[in-house]
Amino acid sequence: STTGLEGRRVVITGAGSGIGRAAALKFAAEGARVVVADLDAERAKSVVAEVEQGGGSAFAVVGDLSDPAVVEEVVARTVAHFGGIDVLVNNAGIMDRMSAAGETDDAEWERVLRVNLTAPFLLTRAALPHLLESGHGAIVFTASEAGLRGSAAGAAYTTSKHGVVGLMKSLAVMYREQGLRTNAIAPGGTATNITVDAADGARGPATIGKYMANVGKPAQADEQAAAILFLASDAASNINGALLPVDNGWAAV
Ligand code: NAD
Repeated sequence: STTGLEGRRVVITGAGSGIGRAAALKFAAEGARVVVADLDAERAKSVVAEVEQGGGSAFAVVGDLSDPAVVEEVVARTVAHFGGIDVLVNNAGIMDRMSAAGETDDAEWERVLRVNLTAPFLLTRAALPHLLESGHGAIVFTASEAGLRGSAAGAAYTTSKHGVVGLMKSLAVMYREQGLRTNAIAPGGTATNITVDAADGARGPATIGKYMANVGKPAQADEQAAAILFLASDAASNINGALLPVDNGWAAV
């Protein structure tokens, strides 16, 4: 295999569903050992079972990754079970309520920023010593088309995903000399379990609708996972700081 992922220790957040689940199955199929980190216990356990049925190795860590205690648990248990961390996939995320800034209350803002931006920062910081020790460490973020433009979500989600892109680039620069690579995918519309619970009167859906003509064909979760796996693999050994749209060309329009 050209991926070099066999035996590597891969932490995937939000791996109970959608893009993260598809990534867990793909990494396991390459012989990687996978940590399925997710808020939802049933989903996480069922993905572990799927990996094991395919002959792979995985375990679940259940909890809210915006809680620093859960972040510490993910790192501690991965190191205890697998002896280190080679790949971190910061994928878990939630939608906002499609609110414009003027309609966004503190709770929406703080929750979305906490889960989509602060949680991946906390987990990255905690995993960094292990990723650097790996010798072929890689981080992949699931950003979004909303990390590229203002017409893909509400204010909080758009801000969080632009922040993810900034964090990715900072990591790419700050740790390049130590051999760590950091990249991100920017998914367009993708069939998963993510839900949008638009706030009453939110101007997002109607306003954004006008700009949605260029969205293109929706992706399957598996198509996003393929890009994540590529960026984490040895096939991408000189790719660092890249944001790869997986969006049927939306970013090019
Ligand atoms: P999904 O809802 O199917 O899966 C997300 C998983 O993350 C769920 O299993 C959920 O339980 C978990 N999760 C959410 N908050 C968590 C938390 N605080 N702690 C631990 N786990 C948590 O959605 P998805 O579409 O696969 O989302 C994955 C990523 O893709 C997200 O970052 C999302 O913003 C991004 N994304 C999705 C789309 C799309 O159209 N589906 C487009 C662009 C970007």
